[in-house]
Amino acid sequence: MTTVVSSETSHSTEQNPFDAALYQFDTAAERLGLDDRLRSMLRKPRRELTVNFPVEMDDGTVSMFRGYRVQHNVHRGPAKGGIRYSSSVALDEVRALAMLMTWKCAVVDLPFGGAKGGVQVEPRALSRRELENLTRRYATEIAVLIGPESDIPAPDMGTNSQVMAWIMDTISMHHGYSIPAVVTGKPVSIGGSRGRLTATSAGLVRVIVEAAAKLGINLEGATVAVQGAGNVGMGAVDFLTEVGARVVAVSDRTGGAFNNRGLDADRVRAAVGELMPLGDMPGVDAITNSELLTLDVDILVPAAIEGQITSRNAGSVRAKLVAEGANGPVTPRGEEILLDAGTVIAPDILANAGGVGVSYFEWVQDLQGFFWTDSQISERLASMMRRAFGEVWELHFQEDCDLRTAAYMLAIRRVAEAASVRGLYP
Ligand code: NAD
Repeated sequence: MTTVVSSETSHSTEQNPFDAALYQFDTAAERLGLDDRLRSMLRKPRRELTVNFPVEMDDGTVSMFRGYRVQHNVHRGPAKGGIRYSSSVALDEVRALAMLMTWKCAVVDLPFGGAKGGVQVEPRALSRRELENLTRRYATEIAVLIGPESDIPAPDMGTNSQVMAWIMDTISMHHGYSIPAVVTGKPVSIGGSRGRLTATSAGLVRVIVEAAAKLGINLEGATVAVQGAGNVGMGAVDFLTEVGARVVAVSDRTGGAFNNRGLDADRVRAAVGELMPLGDMPGVDAITNSELLTLDVDILVPAAIEGQITSRNAGSVRAKLVAEGANGPVTPRGEEILLDAGTVIAPDILANAGGVGVSYFEWVQDLQGFFWTDSQISERLASMMRRAFGEVWELHFQEDCDLRTAAYMLAIRRVAEAASVRGLYP
């Protein structure tokens, strides 16, 4: 079979995250010589649920919201993936993220399939009561799919441990007893895991450390720009600072701050907390998000949203290493340009897999009712990320391909093996 990507599809990968995810899958499937039957099966999400539901607002009016839960694949185990609250959530975005979760879980060899959920809502525009009501109703609407043995949500953009606590409580109320393993990323007081909050960034920085060693980048004093001042971005700033790197720029949706001597993570967090534009912080230069992406730094960490480095700006990216904290921040066309310029990309399905890694640890702890210490979590996480990085690095050499293609090949091979050995029902 020849590559199924037409030039039209290739163009749509710039706009449509699901087309981009399919393009990446097709590229790796082609190199693997994956059988057509498996290929057509793995290109389609297994289940897609769209829900429209009412929420009573504080002023007594009723607003309708739309949400989704998509399970891409469950061949290796229960579906696993976050829930995103954002006004721009769309079905193709959720499909793409569900598919990425399948590969992400497989690349770090977790016994999970992939899923994702989302609600079209601007969470910051709701009161706490409205957010709780919306969450409980959405959890009820998707209760037909989620459960500790079937599909386990976690936080993503716009959601957090409190949202997970409300989902866990709602599902538990339906059953009449506590079901902590129905979600991960919960507060520790109700069965959450130690280290979950920082897991994605800890894993990301582990991958950066491994990649920097291979590429001969000395992290002591290396300059870094981080797009996104949320859970992943700010955690990355902390861990990068710990390993001696100098984070010179950080941005959020308000724009960014630059200081060549390095930024102080606590001051950035305080500005975010006060909803202050980062560029207004004292002692920094204000920069735009597009300027941040093209700064002359050693390492660029896009950790905000998808589709940030595209055919339009990839030619101006100057970092030697791009470590994808976010899901899908580099489009396929953007990637081609970066690779041609010799930039190394640590791909999302590997680089940000630390979050789902510790989510897996949380699920295991909940099922056993037996909890691990901080150091057990961080040792197991570090060893999981080191092993996965090593396997991807090795394969990229053997196959003479980029790291994303190698990570996809490793992941698709594992999922295809599970699908083949299980066989086709009936
Ligand atoms: P978050 O909501 O905590 O933070 C998102 C950040 O991105 C915020 O600072 C926000 O202001 C910024 N942002 C939003 N739109 C932007 C724009 N247009 N330009 C620049 N900045 C913008 O989210 P998070 O949990 O840190 O997730 C960030 C990314 O990492 C997402 O792609 C998510 O899917 C991915 N991810 C998250 C986890 C996790 O454990 N949280 C795990 C794996 C991957």
